[in-house]
Amino acid sequence: MLEQMHVTSLKGVGDKQAEKLEKLGLRVVQDLLFHLPLRYQDKTKLTSLDEAIIGQEIQIEAEITSQRLTPGRRPTLMVQARDTSGHSIGLRFFHFHPSQARQFKRGEFVRAFAELRSGPNGLEMVHPQYQIFTHTPPALDDTLTPVYPTTEGLGQASLVKLIKQAITLLKQYPLAEGLDLDWLKTRQLPAINQALLTLHQPQPDDDLGQIKRFEHPAQQRLIVEELVTQQVSLFLMRQQQERRYAPQFGDSPSAQRLLAQLPFSLTGAQQRVWQQIQQDLSRDHPMQRLIQGDVGSGKTIVAALAALQAADAGYQVAIMAPTEILAEQHRNHFCEWLEPLGIEVAWLNGRLKTAEKRDMLEKITQGQAKIAVGTHALFQESVQFNQLGLVIIDEQHRFGVHQRLSLNQKAQSETKDFAPHQLTMTATPIPRTLAMTAYGDLDISVIDELPPGRQPIDTAVLNNHKRQEVMAHLYHQCQQGVQAYWVCPLIDESEALDAQAAQTTYDEFKQLWPDMRVGLIHGRLKSAEKQSIMQQFSDHHLDLLVATTVIEVGVNVPNASLMIIENAERLGLAQLHQLRGRVGRGAKKSHCVLLYQAPLSATAKARLQIMRETNDGFLIAEEDLRIRGPGEVLGTRQTGGLQLRIADIQRDQAWIEPAQTAAHDLLRLAASDPERINLLQQRWIGTKVEYKHA
Ligand code: ADP
Ligand code: MG
Repeated sequence: MLEQMHVTSLKGVGDKQAEKLEKLGLRVVQDLLFHLPLRYQDKTKLTSLDEAIIGQEIQIEAEITSQRLTPGRRPTLMVQARDTSGHSIGLRFFHFHPSQARQFKRGEFVRAFAELRSGPNGLEMVHPQYQIFTHTPPALDDTLTPVYPTTEGLGQASLVKLIKQAITLLKQYPLAEGLDLDWLKTRQLPAINQALLTLHQPQPDDDLGQIKRFEHPAQQRLIVEELVTQQVSLFLMRQQQERRYAPQFGDSPSAQRLLAQLPFSLTGAQQRVWQQIQQDLSRDHPMQRLIQGDVGSGKTIVAALAALQAADAGYQVAIMAPTEILAEQHRNHFCEWLEPLGIEVAWLNGRLKTAEKRDMLEKITQGQAKIAVGTHALFQESVQFNQLGLVIIDEQHRFGVHQRLSLNQKAQSETKDFAPHQLTMTATPIPRTLAMTAYGDLDISVIDELPPGRQPIDTAVLNNHKRQEVMAHLYHQCQQGVQAYWVCPLIDESEALDAQAAQTTYDEFKQLWPDMRVGLIHGRLKSAEKQSIMQQFSDHHLDLLVATTVIEVGVNVPNASLMIIENAERLGLAQLHQLRGRVGRGAKKSHCVLLYQAPLSATAKARLQIMRETNDGFLIAEEDLRIRGPGEVLGTRQTGGLQLRIADIQRDQAWIEPAQTAAHDLLRLAASDPERINLLQQRWIGTKVEYKHA
């Protein structure tokens, strides 16, 4: 019932309002019920100013002692009040009506609710919610006040009104239960209707503290339901993909030839993963595999072997990288490895000349080029493959699910139930719980071994005062044949300023040591320039490469053994680890210097400390997750349609396994009760995600 009732059937909702609601993904009345509070305001009690904590939202009651307008073009209203503890507080209003200013009379009382701040003249609240009274204080609320996520043109007050209406309707037309009642009962979790009522209108006897900490059974119940739905959806996505057909690739003579020609042999981990891939590719259903391997673990060669298996079977391979530099490196590797075997590699980027581009596209369309390497340019409409059999995506966390799907569709145009094999590679080691929820639709292989002879990178953390010394040290190192990177990270959100910082450092080196062979690389250079500079560095015609974070992913110059990162305090752990991974790729002992600008925040200090202590990508990822939370760690993947509304994979870790079990039970029953799954998907994923239960 409520899952079909459109929002326009509510009082006060016309087409315009419905459009705004749509922006929040709210179409039917049920959606409003699942628009859960972000948090709660506690107006059930008063806080005395002598016990109040800066930064907390509190409610106070105080006697007005003065009010004045600060002069200026846009005056502000400043009301002073004192509570029974004898402490004063200022209430500051930037926007107000003259009549509002007159309300605050000396000797009257004010009840105010807002975050407590420390202002220039002591304690302060900015634009508090307030009531003024003379003798009798207004009654305190007896429940917590929910705060809903809003959108432009749709404020808190309107949402509260609409959700109230939805709740009245809920009492009349309860929702169907999505989970098994016995399952819920043994875990002491409430039924769905009860849970929703509690969260929208917590009662005085509900444990408010528990609700604030997201530990209330009503919340836990919704968290589980959402996680179950997510697991079911991932499973169905996977299953849907698995039902499709993919070409079967047999043994690859070219792969054997490449292996025989390599100057090294595969590590045990590479061999194991290569075997898993070979097996996947020999089946007539699409491979859906993620290779996880720390920076420098040697993912590229494994990808090349997979590509050869497809090429030998007469199929094409698309290889996608998130940046042009990385795409170029891949092209270099693939050309070096595959062209001697007689396999042509095509190359697409956003900056090819028209004629070159036409030529490349032609080769891809005709099937003459078996391998196509590029950035997201490969997604473009104009790229038509002759026979795409395998898609390889490097550094997958930068791509969204939707992009992955769109590349799939390139191959599906002719026959609907055909899909290419898919291999994704990431250097972001994802902790297990996170992998289970975010990559539940992929098989995961881990390259958990570095090539032999690699030595851990020594990392030092130094105050920027030492910058000159570091520069001099670097110069002497380079004199002795060392190759180094100097990274100037994003100073601003602007690429121009960023490039500027690198330029300045480059100029400094040139001025101090004119004989030094220094190169400069940043995002504003033309593709050809970048390529030529990388090539010079790679050939050791340059000793030092001053760069912006454009070199973050994938750049591979094994002889480079020294890295300086400036303003390291501004970078996240994952990024620091990626950057540092550009050294330590050969047999030479490598060093990394992290320069920071004091003072350091507590988290920045913690990050740099971790970098100094460990080279282990998994440890670093765990810490990263702890510091930043899963949304940011996963990047686009999290916002690619699998975003969670109430569950938090980290906070709610303990529920992931039970949810997985429950999801499997549900799927087992799906044959007799398919409605249950539809119901859950509509509830939690709504119409936003296009993966439909097959
Ligand atoms: P990543 O996993 O970070 O993409 P790469 O594939 O770029 O790592 O490999 C890093 C370096 O290690 C490259 O120079 C590559 O040729 C080399 N390499 C890869 N596998 C091995 C191996 N088994 N033995 C020695 N060197 C290897
Ligand atoms: Mg790589």
